[in-house]
Amino acid sequence: MIRTAAIVVAAGRGLRAGGGLPKQWRALAGKPIAAHALGAFRTVGFDSLVLVHHPDDRAEAEAIAGGALLVEGGATRAESVRAALEALDGAGIDRVLIHDAARPLVSPALIGRVLAALDTHDAAAPGLPVTDALWRAAGDTVSGTQDREGLFAAQTPQGFRYALILAAHRAHPGGAADDVEVARRAGHVVAVVPGEADNIKITAPADFARAERLLGGAMDIRTGSGFDVHAFGPGDHVMLCGVRVPHRAGLVGHSDADVGMHALTDAIYGALAEGDIGRHFPPSDPQWKGAPSEVFLSHAAARARDRGFGVSNCDVTLICEHPKIGPHALAMEGKLAAILGIGADRVSVKATTSERLGFTGREEGIAALASVTLVAP
Ligand code: MG
Repeated sequence: MIRTAAIVVAAGRGLRAGGGLPKQWRALAGKPIAAHALGAFRTVGFDSLVLVHHPDDRAEAEAIAGGALLVEGGATRAESVRAALEALDGAGIDRVLIHDAARPLVSPALIGRVLAALDTHDAAAPGLPVTDALWRAAGDTVSGTQDREGLFAAQTPQGFRYALILAAHRAHPGGAADDVEVARRAGHVVAVVPGEADNIKITAPADFARAERLLGGAMDIRTGSGFDVHAFGPGDHVMLCGVRVPHRAGLVGHSDADVGMHALTDAIYGALAEGDIGRHFPPSDPQWKGAPSEVFLSHAAARARDRGFGVSNCDVTLICEHPKIGPHALAMEGKLAAILGIGADRVSVKATTSERLGFTGREEGIAALASVTLVAP
């Protein structure tokens, strides 16, 4: 019975990808990058799974470990791998795959290919033949071309007979770029198996977006709805969707009582599952008395942006007998579009009466309905 282990190396401090946290702990399609990598190995099934983490990242590692052995890494990648290999010493492991957590899209098929190659080789690793023409450049000018014949882009997971790679790491002076280099330094032959173009290494911020696209079903589409009512009171105008509309009465409310903008704001909070205006701007707080409702809508739109959502479209329906909305609808759409930072062709404001029925029919107030679609690519 052959015993297998997989080591996922997540001990780097790389902040190049942006976002504050080391990249392997940043979320991709709802879970940390390192969790995607670990999950692929869990799917294939190994006798031992090891997650190597930086001492400062213990909590992040514990959160995704699931049954994986946690090992603290060292100052370099090679030291981190060696620590993991040493932790497996005595566990009867025959074959080990070593993988960088920054490659979250590793497929079970690729893992299987590397494992299978170890049936006939002491060491095997995935590589992608270089297909682009290669240049040398001095500064920003091309100084020569490089023959791409026989060149491969190296990937992980890299697989080895366990005893071989442990001994090679113990003997290596340090500074190796990867485990293939460590094995070759010790005199071992490493087979190349076909890598995968989608097995990308997350390095720059744009790589996150690419990885999300490759994960496909990651697109998050949400709809939200809002409803609001304000009663007429003393006054000579109403604020509706950010536009001042002359009227024989005003609308009563804690803020400027913009019933349309309130419904739309609640629709966005609803799509985000973040409650309603009252939760973010408590009516008990005097600072919102008479506030322009643009403050609320801007806040909801910023919350959506912060969570990676764009407003795809929104639709507001105002329900009243008077004032007549039609002459102002275009201005209202423009105002809402400007606050949301989207094109006016994605914003609809329309109106209906209630056929003189009910409180809107009796002209006691105005009601508004809104729906919104948020999309995170
Ligand atoms: Mg309201």
